[in-house]
Amino acid sequence: MIQIYNTLTREKEIFQPIEAGKVRMYVCGPTVYNYIHIGNARSTIAFDTIRRYLEYRGYEVNYVSNFTDVDDKIIRAANELGITAPEVADRFIQAFEEDTQSLNVQPATSHPRVMDHMPDILIFIEALIDKGYAYEAKGDVYYRTRNFDGYGKLSHQSIDELEVGASQRTGVEQELKEDPLDFALWKGAKAGEISWESPWGAGRPGWHIECSVMATKHLGDTIDIHGGGQDLEFPHHENEIAQSEAKTGQTFANYWMHNGYVTIGEDDEKMSKSLGNFVTVHELAKQIDPQILRFFMATTQYRRPIRYSEATIKEAGVNLQKLRNAFENLSFRKTGAAAQLDEDERKLHELADLEVRFTTEMDDDFNAANGITVVYELAKWINQYSEQETVSQVVTDKALEQFEQWLSIFGIVFLSDELVDDEIDQLIEERNQARKNRDFARSDEIRDLLKDKGITLEDTAQGTRWRRSE
Ligand SMILES: [Zn+2]
Repeated sequence: MIQIYNTLTREKEIFQPIEAGKVRMYVCGPTVYNYIHIGNARSTIAFDTIRRYLEYRGYEVNYVSNFTDVDDKIIRAANELGITAPEVADRFIQAFEEDTQSLNVQPATSHPRVMDHMPDILIFIEALIDKGYAYEAKGDVYYRTRNFDGYGKLSHQSIDELEVGASQRTGVEQELKEDPLDFALWKGAKAGEISWESPWGAGRPGWHIECSVMATKHLGDTIDIHGGGQDLEFPHHENEIAQSEAKTGQTFANYWMHNGYVTIGEDDEKMSKSLGNFVTVHELAKQIDPQILRFFMATTQYRRPIRYSEATIKEAGVNLQKLRNAFENLSFRKTGAAAQLDEDERKLHELADLEVRFTTEMDDDFNAANGITVVYELAKWINQYSEQETVSQVVTDKALEQFEQWLSIFGIVFLSDELVDDEIDQLIEERNQARKNRDFARSDEIRDLLKDKGITLEDTAQGTRWRRSE
């Protein structure tokens, strides 16, 4: 039974999906005006890991994550780069896809874009106006916050406290609002800005309404899980609730999940100094193996802050290498040995025990930090097993399958697709044959070819073994 810490109630609750066996999940995606920074990467990785675990537990996950491609920051970037706003969006959506692919983040079931949802946004805003939750003011449309009873329920703030904060804001917008707490659903176009036609004149939607529209359009009035970074809890998610629940009269999301921040280690001089160069994944990937970054972020409990430093990254790299070694130790031992019934049964039982422990840890609000310790135990088990004189096929297969499945939840795949194992084995066989025939030129050639592909050979008494190097 999976338990989820729900920001709405500030408690861990048993996860009960709306529809048995299915999960409707919406996660706020990036505003595509630049390369994603490590904070975006953390959120993307955290929810990808959660989604993969839900799938591992047998759920069919409809995972929707938007691209915010209509926003002030995009308009600004377009002016700076001398291209149009849609061109800025296209460029950085492509960059997002490249960066997340290097981090082995699975694409969402769908990645809706604001620009494709303008008619839906207009219909949504009109419905809010009809119900008295929104009003037009000189080409802008504002949400009438005080009309929504539950305002503040997600961030656990009273509306009067919020009013005090909001009343300190100044600007033209403030004068158009009935109340300082009201927020924009539609902004009238300023000169030189990209705009869309609407019943209130040319303009563009506010950020909050975009997510309400895309989430309900793709997943229905009530969704199971709504996720995003901690910084989105207020006002973005509070406003999403106010808009969606006012329109539909239904609960918007049953479980609200927020991932923690990324902090840069203060005592790590070197990393702090180069902070300016390293905040985007695009730059970071030139310095650090993205698989290590993925592993590092995926194995921290998603709600906890991540302290990013040279030391923590190095430690993650060392741990990942240990797992890789264990994987290769047993992969190398794959044999066709006959089953040894009693012994095999005992070993399979040990594996099943580890599996129970793994799911117990991960079911507890996706506690990846505890889950990965069980993966380390499996690695230790695998190392010991692979040193036995005889290993059986059935146990080896089961152990490797379990190991691969768990690693893939954290986004780790050890098999490189450049050269599949069979091809490597074939080349090694050919090299052995060449050595037997004293054709050392060919044997060296094969060794060099494999080296170029990142495969290191090791000749041992039991035969030639290989491992993928960094
Ligand atoms: Zn959002």
